[in-house]
Amino acid sequence: MRTAFRLILLLTVLVCLACLQSLHAAWVSGEEAIMGTRISVQLWHQEKDRGEAVVQAVMEEFRRLDRKLSPYIDSSELSQVNRLASLEPLGISEEFYRLIETSLEYSELTDGAFDITFASIGHRYDYRKGIRPTDSLIDRTLPLIDYRNIHLDKDKSTVFFEKKGVRIDLGGIAKGYAVDRGIELLQQQGIVHALISAGGDSRLLGDHRGRPWHIGVQAPRDKDRMAAMLPLVDSAISTSGDYERFFERDGVRYHHIISPKTGRSADTLQSVTIIGPNATRTDALSTSVFVLGVEKGMALINRLEDVDGVIIDGDGEMITSQGFAGDGP
Ligand code: AMP
Ligand code: MG
Repeated sequence: MRTAFRLILLLTVLVCLACLQSLHAAWVSGEEAIMGTRISVQLWHQEKDRGEAVVQAVMEEFRRLDRKLSPYIDSSELSQVNRLASLEPLGISEEFYRLIETSLEYSELTDGAFDITFASIGHRYDYRKGIRPTDSLIDRTLPLIDYRNIHLDKDKSTVFFEKKGVRIDLGGIAKGYAVDRGIELLQQQGIVHALISAGGDSRLLGDHRGRPWHIGVQAPRDKDRMAAMLPLVDSAISTSGDYERFFERDGVRYHHIISPKTGRSADTLQSVTIIGPNATRTDALSTSVFVLGVEKGMALINRLEDVDGVIIDGDGEMITSQGFAGDGP
């Protein structure tokens, strides 16, 4: 009898402990402006306080990458590379090397639509101030835009730009990469339900505890409306749009996604959304497909087995990839 009583008491204590534990489990979230965009983190943690510390660690990783990759910070590794890599081969960090290497792989995959040397002309635009390079300057500088002007030496971990005036910018891949780094950090902490988003680039860990996450595809010409809502689990999603950074002059929209062939804003689409396994990939591909346009872009998406996509064309019409099985999102 006494043993039975003890057993019941022990069980009660255990149940209470479990209850207390689950009382502390909670969704924890944070939002900050870093890398020129809104970073948002949501995660489920067994202990709220520790969860909040993890959110801060993710934010710190975004700040670290901003300090390294920003073209607006003179001391960033990117700025140093742009100042020095056309003089002689320049030693760079392993992380920076890998980012350039990955960017070059996407240049090959997309037939040059993704090209980080777009910045050779791209840096002359200031979308906030409405400044753009003249047509003659674009035409003179166009030969600088070519990813083949970048030479990497793996053994020495150096980068060299073949022509003076070549510049690079990782804006088409850096946010996706930072999101992936943040997700890695969460995985190391044993977190299984989370969302990290950096402006148009997001990645989800697991589901939203029993139901999928829902990520919206913004209507390009109405920022208060969603063109579609996509239920997603354990995947990444990126949207590139001509409405993110732009100004209009004489009826022409000058925006931040540059066609490497023309040195001017790619002008056939309004937005591209890519869904895939990680945010580095979806980020690079959304920018690439935006440059490629409907036909070549959709052909590429359908050729790649691990991605799907939604294109909103110049008339606002939605086109979906084969993965949506014709039903639309
Ligand atoms: P996203 O919003 O991901 O499409 O990224 C747009 C950013 O990618 C721009 O702000 C530029 O920094 C960069 N970018 C623009 N054109 C290209 C291009 N053709 N290839 C690679 N990056 C680009
Ligand atoms: Mg992108």
